[in-house]
Amino acid sequence: MAEVLLNVSGLKVAYGGIQAVKGVDFEVREGELVTLIGSNGAGKTTTMKAITGLLPLAGGDIQYLGKSIRGRGAWDLVKQGLAMVPEGRGVFTRMTITENLQMGAHIRNDTAEIARDMDKVFGIFPRLRERRDQLAGTMSGGEQQMLAMGRALMSRPRVLLLDEPSMGLSPIMVDKIFEVVREVHGQGVTVFLVEQNASRALQIADRAYVMESGVITMSGEAKQMLSDPKVRAAYLGE
Ligand code: ATP
Repeated sequence: MAEVLLNVSGLKVAYGGIQAVKGVDFEVREGELVTLIGSNGAGKTTTMKAITGLLPLAGGDIQYLGKSIRGRGAWDLVKQGLAMVPEGRGVFTRMTITENLQMGAHIRNDTAEIARDMDKVFGIFPRLRERRDQLAGTMSGGEQQMLAMGRALMSRPRVLLLDEPSMGLSPIMVDKIFEVVREVHGQGVTVFLVEQNASRALQIADRAYVMESGVITMSGEAKQMLSDPKVRAAYLGE
């Protein structure tokens, strides 16, 4: 079996006195595309924020490559190969597209390779190439999502963490984003995808975890979950 890259065990996260994540376990192995699905308010984003050091842990541990990354900041994680695309994108609105992509490569100094990777990102997202000198803040939600993904790819991540990449996007843009996630995964990047769009996420994932009210209620092969009547009834609107 492939190496465990990300291992979350007994994770608890609280807002004040309220526990939003109540002891969650899951793992992501090298080469996998793992999705965490669940309805609104289940605790998915909270889990992602704990992994990337944006929220403190109230219990448990998060390990990357066998070592605890509790409390590590985003910068440190990116250096170790763990890049995140946050919910709401988080692009630098007053910078151009090109500048945003350059920021994604800030941990690198291989100038020629950076230029080549930027060209690759422009190949995946031709819209970004067309608008390379435009300020990111003036772009549509879908374009900003593309940019946030492109920026994360510029760090050459080993693991890509995506928080609800399809949120608020038009159906065409959602198609594009899922296509790109599948493509990036196909190129060998391990992906951990938090999604509310369970149907689409299960279609491209290898394995899935379902979260409800701060706990994992189900897990398994994505294909099997897609045909599971309980999953279909609760998350696929049937
Ligand atoms: P969504 O798809 O809506 O983002 P989610 O599964 O990502 O849902 P979270 O955003 O992690 O859910 O929220 C989990 C719980 O924590 C919810 O009950 C939410 O109201 C609560 N919560 C989230 N952010 C805060 C906050 N800053 N302060 C207090 N409670 C919060």
